Amino acid sequence: MIEPTIIYQSLLVAIFAYAEIHFRLGIFPGFLFKKEPEIIFDLPFRSEIGKNIPLFLFIKDADQYPVKLLEVSIYVAEKNRSSKNRVDENLQLKISEKYFSHRFELPSKFFPSAGIYEVTAELRYEVNGKSKHLVQDNYQRISHEPFEIYIADDPLPSLDGWHWGDLHLHSNFTDDQVEFGAPIAEIVQCAQSMGLRFLAVTDHSFDLSDGTPSNKKWDSLLEEIENVQRKNSDFVLLSGEEVSAGNQDKQNVHCLLLGNQQFYPGIGDGAKKLFDNQPTVPLPDLLKQVRVRDRQTITAAAHPADIPPLSQKLVLNRGHWNLEDLKDKNLDYWQILNGKLDRYFLQAFEGWKIALLHKQRIGILAGTDAHGNFNCFRQIKIPLIKMVKHRQQLLGMTRSGVLIDGQMNRANLLEALRKKRVVISNGPIITIEIERNGEIFQIGSEIMLDSILSIHLHANSSPEFGILQKIYLYNGSYADKKEYRFPVEMTSGVFSWKKTLNLAGLKKGYLRAEVYSANEEWHYFCLTNPIWIE
Ligand SMILES: [Zn+2]
Ligand SMILES: [Zn+2]
Repeated sequence: MIEPTIIYQSLLVAIFAYAEIHFRLGIFPGFLFKKEPEIIFDLPFRSEIGKNIPLFLFIKDADQYPVKLLEVSIYVAEKNRSSKNRVDENLQLKISEKYFSHRFELPSKFFPSAGIYEVTAELRYEVNGKSKHLVQDNYQRISHEPFEIYIADDPLPSLDGWHWGDLHLHSNFTDDQVEFGAPIAEIVQCAQSMGLRFLAVTDHSFDLSDGTPSNKKWDSLLEEIENVQRKNSDFVLLSGEEVSAGNQDKQNVHCLLLGNQQFYPGIGDGAKKLFDNQPTVPLPDLLKQVRVRDRQTITAAAHPADIPPLSQKLVLNRGHWNLEDLKDKNLDYWQILNGKLDRYFLQAFEGWKIALLHKQRIGILAGTDAHGNFNCFRQIKIPLIKMVKHRQQLLGMTRSGVLIDGQMNRANLLEALRKKRVVISNGPIITIEIERNGEIFQIGSEIMLDSILSIHLHANSSPEFGILQKIYLYNGSYADKKEYRFPVEMTSGVFSWKKTLNLAGLKKGYLRAEVYSANEEWHYFCLTNPIWIE
């Protein structure tokens, strides 16, 4: 008898995670199937000079396929250079647990100057009495070329009081037939190595449902978050959830909760029950409940412009956020940046400007939707048959920057998010401060319209993200329903730029800024949330 949920989940093709290879249809194993646990190495895609680099080894399903790890060899070389550093470790470890994780420290002296380094990890192991060898992972049909990590001279570009984090990601509390994530402790180690100061763990409500009324799985998630938080005083970990709820058309869409202590069920598109894909709760009800039961919780439309593929529409009743859904007054943010610079991001960005011009006080957020995926992204494209590997939606690759008042802790982070003191970026930073009578108004605040306002613009980049190319300051006008762009004169060839503009003739609405930087390979940007002008 074929398990119905497996057929259902085989249609969840656009999920992003470490790939699960033990996925079977009935008695026929897929082409990816191996009588071995999944074994993968992973490490951050960027870090900084002077830091040791963590290299993780994750093994999954060794309870079904026990394995003996013999020896690891790790090679580190600056890209296009022949000299290599090598470390060997004799492991001699028998693994038979469901999820095993081990961390190797690559010493900072292997990464002496800024640039791209190639890291190759080889493992000799024994499974079913046979001795085997793998490079990077034991997946078939994907390339096993070296990992690339960028080592920067400088930390992520920042300004006083601003910190970076990833507000949409999945952990190993996501575990089903096609995907699995990394453990929270390792996610935090990777995030710290790459320069983040905070994270929200936002697993799917349907992955967090254990099918019992008390739903102990949520409690163990909170416990795990507290455990990891205690060991990392310099980092802030938020609980969270990506809840499946019903849009206006009674289809399932994803709503992010950040900082919630209660669990909000939503299994509509979780392929849990055959022929039952109705949303568990309508969006407006969910958002209202959160306001009442979890006052400090931040709410956001997850990837609000994404259109799910037809298979997901038909089988999982997955829909998209309608304009009406996005106008809900209990929604704080649209998470427009989700690890990819695709047309959905651009559409959401355009939609956000229109919403602002129509007086909706909605903010923008960034996350990555990473499921594990620190250095590269291994995804099952067509379940059972083919995997792809590329570089997007990596942990921290697109980030939210938050201005923290005082100490970096959970309460202050949630307070800054509540005040919308947030910018989103894949590289540089830009901030706006308005000064009036000695008082400073930050991004997210509201100011009364005066004849002249002093506006401080401040932008930073670094060699990693290239010199500053363009800075734009926009005044959105409620009356004219359009944005006016102020000419901002840039100094050319700089990584850091600061200017005070005394602007007259501002219109009621809002001010927001954008900065663009570029190196030889790529373009980077940062978008601010508005300062509202009433
Ligand atoms: Zn989602
Ligand atoms: Zn997600």
